[in-house]
Amino acid sequence: MVHIVKKKVHGNDYYYLIKSIREGDKVKSKTIAYLGKTRKEADEKAEGIIKKLEEDEKTKTKKEEKLLVKGEIMEESFKQLTKQQSQSPEGSVLTIEEVATFCKRKGFIYADSEIYGGIAGFWDFGPLGVELYNNIKQHWWKFFVKDRENMVGIDASIISHPRTWKASGHIANFNVNDYLVTCTKCKKSNKIDKPDLGKVKCACGGEYDWNNAKMVEQMFKTKIGTDQTEVYLRGETAQGMFLNFKLITETSRVKLPFGIAQIGKCFRNEIAPRDFLFRSREFTIGEFEFFIHPDEKKCKLLERNHLNTELNLLDSETQEKNTGELRKTSILTMLDEKRLEEWHAYWLSEQLLWYKELGINMDKLKVREHKKAELSHYSSATFDIDYEYPFGSKEVAGIANRGQFDLTQHINESKQKLEFYDEESKKKVIPSVIEPTFGMDRTFLAVLVDAYNYDKERENVVLKLKPELAPFKVAVFSLINKLNDEAKEVFNSIKKDFATFYDTSGSIGRRYARQDEIGTPLCITIDFDSAKNKDVTIRERDTTKQIRVKTKDLKETIKKLLNQEIKFEKAGKIIKDKAKEIKE
Ligand SMILES: [Zn+2]
Repeated sequence: MVHIVKKKVHGNDYYYLIKSIREGDKVKSKTIAYLGKTRKEADEKAEGIIKKLEEDEKTKTKKEEKLLVKGEIMEESFKQLTKQQSQSPEGSVLTIEEVATFCKRKGFIYADSEIYGGIAGFWDFGPLGVELYNNIKQHWWKFFVKDRENMVGIDASIISHPRTWKASGHIANFNVNDYLVTCTKCKKSNKIDKPDLGKVKCACGGEYDWNNAKMVEQMFKTKIGTDQTEVYLRGETAQGMFLNFKLITETSRVKLPFGIAQIGKCFRNEIAPRDFLFRSREFTIGEFEFFIHPDEKKCKLLERNHLNTELNLLDSETQEKNTGELRKTSILTMLDEKRLEEWHAYWLSEQLLWYKELGINMDKLKVREHKKAELSHYSSATFDIDYEYPFGSKEVAGIANRGQFDLTQHINESKQKLEFYDEESKKKVIPSVIEPTFGMDRTFLAVLVDAYNYDKERENVVLKLKPELAPFKVAVFSLINKLNDEAKEVFNSIKKDFATFYDTSGSIGRRYARQDEIGTPLCITIDFDSAKNKDVTIRERDTTKQIRVKTKDLKETIKKLLNQEIKFEKAGKIIKDKAKEIKE
């Protein structure tokens, strides 16, 4: 089902082609293309796109499972978007297609194996993407592992003993949850969760053909060794922490409470991968299991700043009543309302704090309490942290109270003693577990969407990344080729201290624009005066303001600016924009 909608931004009308998609028992809408500013233009454009959609649909049914991720439609909307971009008003709706094409154009993300048409649900990080991604992952590791005394890290294998997944409940629950069913009316195939079998209707109103519902295993299987033993690629990282629990307690001198953290790849055979990096078949999770004495209800780490952490909450009662209303609340209030226990509250607050440190707009985050009916097979209380993506508010992270479920399961399955000797009580206990989880690709996407700004005056995208996340911290230019030697000298003097980009091609304005687009906070230019006065100009990404700084003070000044230890205007002598002078 596709239809045209009108959106009003700053008093102007903008038309979009929207598609309704059924997900379980919910109908969601997705923007397919921008259609222009008048109804007439929109109708004309929509006709062509719908025709293409129908053709695509036909080939899709023929091929059963189409591999193309983006296909014609995305290219089409990209062409229109790039055409429209210079007129795109501030506050206009950013689509996920625009983000995806931007990522491809700048070398952040590519569709995997694109030369063969791509493969649905798999993405590659390009030269800039890998830098941004590594910076996010390193930031996480420092925040949650290195800076804490009660946390250790691991990097576990992707393939584990098959009995792992029996003990974890994945074989009985998770792996057999997805069903593919076809609508008897519109003939479309949709994914249905096991509990919805026989209970829901297609978005078109038609009945599903329940007799031919096909179960699709969520875990990827592969075979190992000469006897071809069937094993699974892990569907979550958590089991690595439980499998190594015994060895870590024996070798790492940890004391309760403590955590085991990991960042790693996971695999899920999604029936319908979609929304760019959001729902893919191979993805990265950052996660830790935090082990607590089962009787310890007090969290000693809970401080005023945690209790005062403000958040937008969608609680379970509101969801039951279906009003969908968010309310501003605090961790303290949530504790008073007995929505969670102290350790759970502490880690939820720390999770929000991390997103704040990444520079994410906190108004775009909401905390959603799981209803009793949707709790996972292992959890007694769960919260999602949702981010406002262009395709809707969706889960970027989560936190579950797993209790003693996993260790007990592994004790039963492996017959090993996985208790922990608690020195204080002189007793062996099975610790209780709080599990904060972060979708790392989803965090990458949130960081990117949040930083993405189209600057009308500059007529280009300005990626307002926090300096510590930016792929390059500094770029060095020479105003004209004659000054290349001097510029190279400056570049060589700082490249070991900061990730630096050296660029001598194109007009100086183009070079600034290229750096704005990839989020480089500072651009250094060597101009005619530089040679004479032994100084350089520094331009600030977010304001385009420029200062003049002595070359001998350059390294120290860059460091202070990147660490936000000094205001830009105070770091040197403010000057007029050289690029503008030259244009004039
Ligand atoms: Zn239908």
